[in-house]
Amino acid sequence: MSGENDLDAVVVGAGFAGLYMLHRLRGLGLSVQVFEAGDGVGGTWYWNRYPGARCDVESMDYSYSFSDELQQEWTWTERYAAQPEILKYINHVADRFDLRRDIKFSTRVTSAVFDDARRRWTVQTDRGDRVSARFCIMATGCLSDAQVPDIKGRETFAGPWYHTGHWPHGGVDFTGQRVGIIGTGSSAIQSIPIIARQASQLVVFQRTPNYSMPAHNAALDPEYEQRVKAGYAEFRRQARESRIGFVVERSGDSALAAAPDEREREYEKRWRRGGLGFSAAYADILTSQEANDTAAEFFRKKIRAIVRDPDVAAALTPTDYPLGTKRLCVDTDYYATFNRDNVSLVDLRKTPIEAITPRGVRTTVAEYAVDSLVFATGFDAMTGALLKMDIRGRGGLALRDKWAAGPRTYLGLAVAGFPNLFTITGPGSPSVLSNMIVSIEQHVDWITDCLRELRAQDRQCIEATAEAEEAWVTHVNDVGHMTLYPRAKSWYMGANVPGKPRIFMPYIGGVGVYRQKCDEVAAAGYVGFTLS
Ligand SMILES: Cc1cc2nc3c(=O)[nH]c(=O)nc-3n(C[C@H](O)[C@H](O)[C@H](O)COP(=O)(O)OP(=O)(O)OC[C@H]3O[C@@H](n4cnc5c(N)ncnc54)[C@H](O)[C@@H]3O)c2cc1C
Repeated sequence: MSGENDLDAVVVGAGFAGLYMLHRLRGLGLSVQVFEAGDGVGGTWYWNRYPGARCDVESMDYSYSFSDELQQEWTWTERYAAQPEILKYINHVADRFDLRRDIKFSTRVTSAVFDDARRRWTVQTDRGDRVSARFCIMATGCLSDAQVPDIKGRETFAGPWYHTGHWPHGGVDFTGQRVGIIGTGSSAIQSIPIIARQASQLVVFQRTPNYSMPAHNAALDPEYEQRVKAGYAEFRRQARESRIGFVVERSGDSALAAAPDEREREYEKRWRRGGLGFSAAYADILTSQEANDTAAEFFRKKIRAIVRDPDVAAALTPTDYPLGTKRLCVDTDYYATFNRDNVSLVDLRKTPIEAITPRGVRTTVAEYAVDSLVFATGFDAMTGALLKMDIRGRGGLALRDKWAAGPRTYLGLAVAGFPNLFTITGPGSPSVLSNMIVSIEQHVDWITDCLRELRAQDRQCIEATAEAEEAWVTHVNDVGHMTLYPRAKSWYMGANVPGKPRIFMPYIGGVGVYRQKCDEVAAAGYVGFTLS
């Protein structure tokens, strides 16, 4: 029974995860309130409106599969969809399934507290809402807590500054300006070529060079689209059972067993095809340093061939971490942009930033005067948005305290001590190592089945046991450490946020394997959970 402020479920976030969760909860006949900090739907694609923002997973893969009508009627225009098109798509979904009426926009959830006696969550917002709900589902996103680095003097900068993850909705025109951009991760790699074409001068401040693949983006081939649509069910099945949530040509062979010229041909073929999936060229690229070196060296040669100035090429070349262990980027003309006369690169490993000044950025050797500054400095990934809220479980236990040494979950979905709380694509699930729409749908479907089962058994509460959580955390770590991933100072490891514990957060066992584990847990009566 639900009173006015007594809901069955609260969902936090109205990106891909929150919207689909709402749709499924409605399907169960539950009363649901969604809270969303932004004033529209879309999450990532609502906030990240920087020039060049685009999906790295192909359009036919990066879309919902839950409605065949939806996937048949929607037409993507490009091989990789740009941010405005994805935002249009998700708005279409919100309208088509009449989702907006249960979403309260421009409203940030500040706390969620579990009441042991009533076995309900009390959720409060920055707009004064206070609601009570049996279930609390976090759809707050892995990459939604934008990080502006705490550089001395930042507040003194006289011009406008922007973070790629909070881009002004009206866009920014850099024509004729001197622009500085700090950071060279995925968002920077997408935006630098475009900003360089507008700005009079662009200064790129780089701490860590990245490996980036050409996208070879193009108009979507209508024949390919028809072929996929004709067999979409099978296409989606294969994606769900794959390692990363979409199908790439995957070899079971060792890079070290291949002859050097054969290996070169294989890498070249993949470079020409473009996009993600390069590290699937051989089975051991992400597990053997020696195998990885062969792939990394291929990239290094490519960078040297594209970038004319050898010093700039050297600075752009990653040398101190294995390929693929930081998120592989996908670009259009990134390296070639450094051949332009109006673009310069500042290598912060050699000359670190000392301060931001009213005029620009001062390193240990020079001051670079700029009119505008762009922070392409990423996110407090996977845990940032969750820990921004004051989440308290049984006995007042704060999630911030529980996770002080790094996130701990069961299946990336639930946390011991926090009954009836679910984290969609939470830490300890494949999440950011996958096509996230596949991972989101899997979690939402699992949670929906779980709630249906609780109702069928007339249970009010489900909670992960401490033992199951411990075993899962150990498994996630063990699998992570079988790979080269922990060797990189990446945001997967929490390394981009000062003071954040260094833990490999996502589950790398593969999307298909992970799904099977979750299904087995459910089929066996939710082993590792207590139902009451
Ligand atoms: C630039 C960029 C490019 C990306 N490219 C890809 C890609 O190529 N392929 C891929 O698979 N994934 C990509 N991702 C990951 C992307 O985040 C996911 O694919 C997907 O959009 C996540 O959806 P979500 O609903 O889980 O989270 P989000 O889209 O992040 O939505 C979460 C929502 O929760 C809201 N929220 C958070 N905290 C609160 C709170 N306390 N109160 C109220 N609301 C709150 C936020 O405002 C946000 O709208 C990319 C991410 C970024 C940032």
